[in-house]
Amino acid sequence: MLAQRTLKSLTKAVGVGLHSGQRVELTLRPAAPDTGIVFRRVDLPQPVDIVISAQAVTDTRLASTISSGSAKVHTVEHLMSACAGLGIDNLYVDITAEEVPILDGSASSFVFLLQSAGIALQAAPKRFIRVLRSVEVREGEGATAKWARLSPYNGYKLSFEIDFDHPAVDSTGQRVEFDMSSGSYTRDIARARTFGFTKDVEMMRSNGLALGGGLDNAIVMDDYKVLNSDGLRYNDEFVKHKILDAMGDLYLIGKPLLAAYSAFRSGHALNNKLLRELLLHEDAYEVVTFEDEKRAPQGFATLARAW
Ligand SMILES: [Zn+2]
Repeated sequence: MLAQRTLKSLTKAVGVGLHSGQRVELTLRPAAPDTGIVFRRVDLPQPVDIVISAQAVTDTRLASTISSGSAKVHTVEHLMSACAGLGIDNLYVDITAEEVPILDGSASSFVFLLQSAGIALQAAPKRFIRVLRSVEVREGEGATAKWARLSPYNGYKLSFEIDFDHPAVDSTGQRVEFDMSSGSYTRDIARARTFGFTKDVEMMRSNGLALGGGLDNAIVMDDYKVLNSDGLRYNDEFVKHKILDAMGDLYLIGKPLLAAYSAFRSGHALNNKLLRELLLHEDAYEVVTFEDEKRAPQGFATLARAW
């Protein structure tokens, strides 16, 4: 049987929120089979659980925010990406503020935390959402057009194209494809950092955003170049970060997808719209398990290598 996964033990991290600049403590804890991933706001007078789902996403400006009633957690996508990359099905995420810490701006710190706690196989079959026919969402026309699509595929692969008119981005790869069967999420995707432009940062700060952002947790560019003294981690780090984000956004559906995702200039909003479009069409997907793990698509049965 291809089994569900959780952590062997709990692990903690302390950091600041990218937008709030607030100090936050994060505790990642094992959870029973079929719990899913549950964020728990432990700082509220009465702790509130927010179970991830496409519908739990209530704001997608700058980051993916999930909520339950008035309780929110912002910027869940990098932690969710690490969970998708390592195949974590069940997890409690206790959090002491409204935003997940940004740490180094990529998913690699979360990968490190999850792998340090150890990954445990559970006595329940892993449930996948297998896409049976293509669904697509589009926004804008001409130069502002963007789209995202899920198509049937025996495995999970993502291809993303960005189109930034900026010298530092133009000179790097603008399109990348990543297939889970490669087993190289931790090496090739997880380390890609979020990025921003100084002129936007100034505007965001005046609106009380990006308060925790800086050169130690983002690639920052002025009108011409990357300002980080040690440069880029990958020569196509920008578009790889978009793949990292998409993996996190899509994993908010609550189960791993068996599908090919392709996107042009997509973002958190369109990624969530794509999940909702899929769920709207009952004939477009089915939930499957693999009694014989050898019959599962490549890349899902093996645990990612520890660092
Ligand atoms: Zn991101």
